[in-house]
Amino acid sequence: MSRVSLLLMLACLLAGRTQGKQPVQGAVKKTCDSGIILKLSSAATSQGSLLLAEISGAKPSQEFTAEWDGRPIPLWRETPASPTIHALLGVDLEKPAGRYEWKLSWSAADGKPIACSLPVTVRAGKFPIERLTVEKQFVQPDPEQQKRAEEDQKKMKASYDTVTPEVLWKGKFIRPLKGVTTGGNFGRRRVLNGEARSPHAGVDFPAATGTPVYAAQSGRVVLAENLYYSGNTVVIDHGYGIYTLYAHLSEIAVKAGDPVEASAEIGKVGATGRVTGPHLHWGLTIDHARVNALQIVQRQP
Ligand SMILES: [Zn+2]
Repeated sequence: MSRVSLLLMLACLLAGRTQGKQPVQGAVKKTCDSGIILKLSSAATSQGSLLLAEISGAKPSQEFTAEWDGRPIPLWRETPASPTIHALLGVDLEKPAGRYEWKLSWSAADGKPIACSLPVTVRAGKFPIERLTVEKQFVQPDPEQQKRAEEDQKKMKASYDTVTPEVLWKGKFIRPLKGVTTGGNFGRRRVLNGEARSPHAGVDFPAATGTPVYAAQSGRVVLAENLYYSGNTVVIDHGYGIYTLYAHLSEIAVKAGDPVEASAEIGKVGATGRVTGPHLHWGLTIDHARVNALQIVQRQP
């Protein structure tokens, strides 16, 4: 290996580290009772990542219950008769490092309950601390602003609590800006005007105000309005607990309830809400877990 390529490789590794990425380990699989096979894209992952899960060897009508970290998670089949079942496991960016289990339960032919699980190690992400200065009202909101922010939170939670039992996506997820591939800041622990705040749960793409923003995937708009911190915001439901969020827009081109196709223009880049300048903030939530949206472009559900 030449010195240049070695340096490049080291630089890539280090860059990956600062964004909280860990080297990807190989997939794991386990054969359970009655020939059911569980597969996970990796046995070890880090905060803010997603894992692909698969169940094979199932009968077409066979029903399963899946649990990730003590919570039920949705499962889907490509077609009702498909013997392969899929799930996405989201590892929230603040999920404590440790050992967790992806657990599956079903009934045997004689009605006897069966359970089988695969362990998952979650490592702490290596997220840098970022110190920023923003308008005072976004760090010390007055009671009215505080109330508004809390109502926004409730609205977001209500959206994410809804699991649409339907695949609304088609094909691959794409980045939401054309020609802009460098997004960053995911997971950064934030100190705003000297005060610790929740970590940065999205990917920021720097772009000029007015740059068109596209739906990363087809789905249904569930929120399209101005929120206190995220400014003009659009949230799209892609089904099975998968949501993408687009924040700080200067203009919104859709409304709640609209079906959208992947690549449909949903608004324009702006600097509304709590920002230091114009950019697109792009978020991905899987069953309430805040994960790095760039990962879904690389790994398809
Ligand atoms: Zn952001």
